[in-house]
Amino acid sequence: MDIIVCKFGGSCVADSEGFRRARGILEADPARRYAVVSAPGAVDGGPKVTDLLEAAWNGDNAALNRAADRFHRIAVGLGLDPEDALTRETLRRAATRDALLSRGEYLCARLFARCIGWPLVDAADCVCFDGAGTLSVPDTLQRLRRLARTTPRAVIPGFYGADPSGEIVTLPRNGSDITGALVAAGTGADLYENWTDVPGLMTADPAQSPEARLIPAATYPQMRRLAQRGARVLHPDCLAPVEQAGIPTHLMWFKRPDRPGTVISGG
Ligand code: ASP
Repeated sequence: MDIIVCKFGGSCVADSEGFRRARGILEADPARRYAVVSAPGAVDGGPKVTDLLEAAWNGDNAALNRAADRFHRIAVGLGLDPEDALTRETLRRAATRDALLSRGEYLCARLFARCIGWPLVDAADCVCFDGAGTLSVPDTLQRLRRLARTTPRAVIPGFYGADPSGEIVTLPRNGSDITGALVAAGTGADLYENWTDVPGLMTADPAQSPEARLIPAATYPQMRRLAQRGARVLHPDCLAPVEQAGIPTHLMWFKRPDRPGTVISGG
């Protein structure tokens, strides 16, 4: 395989241990060339960074400090300079709700790029929205094709892009799945790996049914039907870009990369 795009969900990059594990996964296969990251997820039942930023936008100043502290802890845990002043400045400068919410992914990608030593490519430069705030898939794929020609490896923040005036626009919640799928389609990837805290597609919710079994393979139409019925495995809007490009999606279990996961392909 030449190109694998890996998307790491918030539960994967919630702490320094997760950052190390994600780095190990990428370094284990040279085809894993593009990493799309969510904002750090919950630790010990606490809030996700995106939820803290939402609270901060609604006037909770302590939440902004808590969000900044999450990045401080991860950086220190990795033995990196936490660059606290830069983090706070990045958060303070965000002038709109979308801009502030997007900083969770941006700061996470910036830190992860330092952790693995790959370049950071800002999603604002490759995920395109029109002036009405609608995602423009053709423009985005064109930018990503150019990226693939010039930049063999990169860390890209999920969940947002920019409109023609440079204003940040976010995707729906859990939208980093969509960014990952767009990056896979645009870079001409052979495979889209979606890493999360579940073993893959299951016959039932393992938290409720201990007898839940892994489903090793599914088709894109089957996934679409599951999403319509409310299954929360993948964001439903992330299916089309990879399905249309003929790229399989591999749902992978972050804690157990040796497990088979679920391969979604074909029609
Ligand atoms: N961080 C955003 C959220 O919590 C987007 C994502 O994780 O995909 O919804």
